[in-house]
Amino acid sequence: MPEKKRHEQEMVESYPWLSVEGAIERFLRLFTVLPAEEIDISDGLDRVLARDIVAINDIPPLANSAMDGYAVCMADISAATAERPVRLRIAGNLAAGYVRTQPVAPGTAVRIMTGAPVPPGTEAVVPFEQTERDGDWVTIFKAVKPGRNVRAAGEDVQRGEVILPAGTTLRPQEIGMLAALGYRRTAVVGRPRVAILATGDELVDVEETPGPGQIRNANSYANAAQVLRMGGLPISLGIAKDNIVALTEKLHQAVDAKADLILTSGGVSLGDFDVVKDVLAAEGEIHFWRVQMKPGKPAAMGQISGIPLLGLPGNPVSAMITFELFARPAMAKMQNRHDWRRQVIDAHFMNRIKRKDHRRHYLRVRLQRDNGAWQAFLTGDQGSGILRSMVLADGLAVIPESWDKVEPGAIVQVMLLGRQFPCDPAID
Ligand code: AMP
Ligand code: MG
Repeated sequence: MPEKKRHEQEMVESYPWLSVEGAIERFLRLFTVLPAEEIDISDGLDRVLARDIVAINDIPPLANSAMDGYAVCMADISAATAERPVRLRIAGNLAAGYVRTQPVAPGTAVRIMTGAPVPPGTEAVVPFEQTERDGDWVTIFKAVKPGRNVRAAGEDVQRGEVILPAGTTLRPQEIGMLAALGYRRTAVVGRPRVAILATGDELVDVEETPGPGQIRNANSYANAAQVLRMGGLPISLGIAKDNIVALTEKLHQAVDAKADLILTSGGVSLGDFDVVKDVLAAEGEIHFWRVQMKPGKPAAMGQISGIPLLGLPGNPVSAMITFELFARPAMAKMQNRHDWRRQVIDAHFMNRIKRKDHRRHYLRVRLQRDNGAWQAFLTGDQGSGILRSMVLADGLAVIPESWDKVEPGAIVQVMLLGRQFPCDPAID
């Protein structure tokens, strides 16, 4: 065996094998929750509250009408029936936004619109539909119970309660609640800054025409989009050539950019890891692992100037799936996010596969509904360079390490990649 080859072989054999969970666990140790920052609630979607939100007022602040109708005194209307209706004089008209402080005298009623505070002396609202008006008089055909059609002060939120705890991811409804409570700005966990660096002498940027032997850099763009999806701020460092000087310079840029995480792609597999390995080792503390997964066996993880680094494999599918399994939980941890886990469903695997590598396979599948059950079909060639397999995928079928084959019909778990289920033709 040639010297270089033997050296590589030894190096690889010295890599520890790690389970997916073991690798995630070790990687996550490098992260803590990022410091909080104040933002305008209009920019709050998908951000995570850094502090408990306490209600500083009741919602609604005053008892108010839930219907358009007449605010009435109980004594007047408690005996009203269709046969013996009650006639009351209309003592005023109250729209939402106006308050009547003057009490309503017995024998009279106030026309009131939805949202207007109920005037003193009245305890219920009779909707227009149950009344008949003639000029200044209204006839009421039905008794209502005290409190009917009146929304009590504080029935939604009571002053002093913790209505949104720290760690809540803000959805539109939480942003509405913050607005209702009068929080123009709020403290949220910072967004992770993620430096993204592609490595490879063969790479050119997207607008360039690749020369012989060259390809376009796909990973940086896919990874940046993954970062955005997870609420992070991608910082693109472009492409580093496979040499010590270029790589070292780019890594320094990542440090200068105050990244919270550095992602590199390429250069960690057998053929070419020497340069990357040497640079990473010189610049920080990096461990190379073989993770029991496919795609994405080789991975590098560690720290450079205290910043966690994840070395993704270069093949586009491997890069994306390694991001999915390691960078996503790390970004969730930095943001104190709890809503990030992919939905997992059971599906019937519709292909036949054999394998002997005892790794966990993440197969790209398209989902289809059949008689109330999900069927998962492989999205064609599953090579780790076949980006189309991701493009066509609704999810990743997770094949456990211990299975040496999967027969058609076997139940497998599928991690959904989208935000929602694929269309169910039965419903759509
Ligand atoms: P490597 O991990 O550097 O050995 O790369 C493995 C394969 O992925 C090679 O075919 C590379 O050309 C390809 N590759 C590496 N980086 C990228 C990238 N940024 N975009 C697309 N393909 C890449
Ligand atoms: Mg390479």
